[in-house]
Amino acid sequence: MSFTIKQAISPTATGYEVIDVYIEGTEIQAIAPDLAPRGTVIDGSRHLLLPGFVNAHTHSPELWQRGAIAPYPLELWLTELYAVSTLTPEHIYLSAIATAVETLLSGGTTVVDHLILLPGQELETIAAAVRGYQAVGIRAFIGPLIYDQHPDAGIPKGDNNWQPGEGPLTTAAILEILEIAVQRFHRPEAGISIMTAPTGLQLCSDQLFRGCVELSDRHNLCRHTHLLETKAQQKLAQEQYGCSAVAHLQNLGFLSSRTSLAHCVWLDDGDIAILAATGSTVVHNPLSNLRLGSGIAPVLKYRAAGVNVTFGCDGSASNDGQDLLEAIKIGTMLHNITDADYRHWLTPREAVEMAALGGARGLNGGDALGTVHIGQQADLVLYDLKTLSLLPKTDPLGLLVMGRPTNAVAHSWVRGEQIIAGGKPTRLELDQLCGDLDRLSLGAIQRPSPDLPAVEAHYRQVMGLPS
Ligand SMILES: [Zn+2]
Repeated sequence: MSFTIKQAISPTATGYEVIDVYIEGTEIQAIAPDLAPRGTVIDGSRHLLLPGFVNAHTHSPELWQRGAIAPYPLELWLTELYAVSTLTPEHIYLSAIATAVETLLSGGTTVVDHLILLPGQELETIAAAVRGYQAVGIRAFIGPLIYDQHPDAGIPKGDNNWQPGEGPLTTAAILEILEIAVQRFHRPEAGISIMTAPTGLQLCSDQLFRGCVELSDRHNLCRHTHLLETKAQQKLAQEQYGCSAVAHLQNLGFLSSRTSLAHCVWLDDGDIAILAATGSTVVHNPLSNLRLGSGIAPVLKYRAAGVNVTFGCDGSASNDGQDLLEAIKIGTMLHNITDADYRHWLTPREAVEMAALGGARGLNGGDALGTVHIGQQADLVLYDLKTLSLLPKTDPLGLLVMGRPTNAVAHSWVRGEQIIAGGKPTRLELDQLCGDLDRLSLGAIQRPSPDLPAVEAHYRQVMGLPS
């Protein structure tokens, strides 16, 4: 498969140039102002060419509950989320497809799915998500979301006699499932990678984290986890370890240049220095942080300290969508209110680099992904600059990041294969997907769940809220 994109608008360090790009197989082979057309010719004129972005943190199965959970902080929101247990592997397959399509139509070409597993059907869940991503053609990193403590253990104990139950599976059983998942599904060369992804220190034993480090070293897997998303988690880490969660993760050997950490809202300067020293990546999920009232991640401080930062949508039940351009917009502007010195504020150019190259680096892929250069993987996006939301002609990157782009993605390629053409997926029918999502919808869910009152009473007490 080979093709030539003719006369696309491409950003330079300070402006724009018009280029032709020739792709053969999965790679960019040539870039020049005017190439002799080879293979299929794509008209790139009045289109902006960018490397694909990474949706660097999501949970695809949450799609089935988007818009359905009341405004709660994370700890109560999770109780509501996990009270619903009616999903099947078919749901998982379809929500992976929908997550992939929404990511693609907002500039992404890679998705990191911190995949919530169906109890008792863990490998079937992973298989269904893999099939979903393969059906679309997006590049996917799947981190089976694992934990070996009861979900109630994620709330600080405080002075209450708070006694969470047993975890769902033993540590050994979880590591066994992961090992099988790696053998069966980890095919980076085909665009599907398995990650080790314990949900977070709040629900995972040290033994589970150590097992994940060992597995990731043995198979060269990326590592992913939630980190200090809420104030309650900061409190819990002090209660459990007597040190910060970041220091504890470092002691466990989990932090590295192939580790990405979702949220990172409640870190202090010492923690930030550890992230910089270990080469870890922060995944900023601004919409989820707003939705759950978690706080504002100190992204400007991270960047000033040399920490790599990229963007994620987070799961669809805490956002409640998968529009990556929306996450990038809010994640860029939000920090202007945290620092009066406007010289520190993020520019649209920086935001685009964070979303593409920053995302690739967080997945240990900065050599092959995230820029438009010869020898790079052809994970590319052409934005239609003639669509209403990107008109009139001003600064294409400024309008893409700070505007409200709709129907902006015209064409996308992953590993050199065109998987979006004319704003539509090439491998599947969008109408059929919508019909299937409609048919399998969960409908009315009992809210609040019966589990909520007890958790809420404890949460309010431990967080110092009036009862
Ligand atoms: Zn998450």
